[in-house]
Amino acid sequence: MNRETSRDLYDRALDVLPGGVNSSVRAAPQPYPTFVSKGDAGHVVDADDNRYVDWVMGLGPLLLGHDVPDEVQAAIQRRTSEGPMYGMPTEIEVDHAEFIARHVPSVEMVRFVNSGTEATVSAVRLARGFTGRDKVIVMQGGYHGAQESTLVSGDREGASPSSPGIPQSFAEHTIPVPFNDEEAAKAAFEEHGDDVAAVLVEPILANKGIVEPNPGYHETLRALTREHGALLVFDEVITGFRVGGLQCAQGKFGVEPDLTTFGKVIGGGFPVGAVGGKTEIMQELTPAGDVFQAGTFSGHPVTMAAGLETLKYAAEEDVFDHVNALGERLRDGLRDIVEDQAPNYSVVGADSLFKVVFTRRGRQPRNGADVADAAVDRWNRVFRPQMLDEGVVLSQNQFESQFVSAAHTEEDVERTLEAYKDAL
Ligand code: PMP
Repeated sequence: MNRETSRDLYDRALDVLPGGVNSSVRAAPQPYPTFVSKGDAGHVVDADDNRYVDWVMGLGPLLLGHDVPDEVQAAIQRRTSEGPMYGMPTEIEVDHAEFIARHVPSVEMVRFVNSGTEATVSAVRLARGFTGRDKVIVMQGGYHGAQESTLVSGDREGASPSSPGIPQSFAEHTIPVPFNDEEAAKAAFEEHGDDVAAVLVEPILANKGIVEPNPGYHETLRALTREHGALLVFDEVITGFRVGGLQCAQGKFGVEPDLTTFGKVIGGGFPVGAVGGKTEIMQELTPAGDVFQAGTFSGHPVTMAAGLETLKYAAEEDVFDHVNALGERLRDGLRDIVEDQAPNYSVVGADSLFKVVFTRRGRQPRNGADVADAAVDRWNRVFRPQMLDEGVVLSQNQFESQFVSAAHTEEDVERTLEAYKDAL
């Protein structure tokens, strides 16, 4: 397959963009990533005119795929033609917040921001401001964006920043525990209970190979946070309006957090994030309360139109049935292939998320460490480039989830299963 243009573009990019990209994961696979020229339904076409089935889907936002339906397109175009933004409020922000509050069980009020990172930064500040406490409990292997309080490694005994540039003093307020480990969460509360502002958790770990919660795990986190006066924050940046449909993962698991962070799908492919929760807590944000939060582009009318019309379309057109059914078909097909050809590997995912994790012992991963132990190098070095040659784009590394969209077809699924079979 000829990919010379991608190679040349990457060469140019390396001179003017650090690492040649604007977000770290996009530099994979090496020696050069695939530069996209356009999307088309469930496919992308690269700069050399090669066509691939696309399971990256913008790394999550593109619930409807690359073909934006006419009504969504019309709403976006009307907004852009009327001046893209104003620095003054608009009706569409109210409409979108009402939609989220109507469907997501725990959410009464919403503050829109511009990325998932901004959402988790704001949620942590709000939790700290509301409780008057500093510490946050996070999951090892969880991801909450490029923010100072959660980019940590370590365990209950001590955390340190996982990136240069973050003061050690920030990490001292963060307590990492293994996902799905109720005893570790209890021990963290026993030791630090009076200082804990929040537990911040993805309902399903979706940045570390996709790990589902054990039955009862979130209920335990809910009980512990209540008992100790801390907030439970679900980071639904990936799971929001993907897992559990319009009710999100909290609806699927029947556990109501105090705060929820959103991103990705709720912006219909445009930059977005949001924090939602009970009025009592949300009212602490400025200007209603004292916890400062602001943003020039927040509630951007074009984003709001794209996001709201996407969600309305999803609600009206059985999009969740379609993407979840194809997700299941992929996972079932992959399970058969893996059982036959690579019995140590694990098929993971839920609803429209799927992935094959190159586990070493044939055991479904239960936490971030189980996934980190996978054959990551083999996946990067051999598997993903090979899938690319088969005409299938998978997410950039072993850890990132893959996403089914409304535009994907049975044929895309069958082609993908064939490609997995060949590559494995
Ligand atoms: N939280 C979760 C669970 C995420 O998956 C991500 C991004 N993948 C973020 C937060 C950060 O979102 P963004 O990249 O939009 O800043």
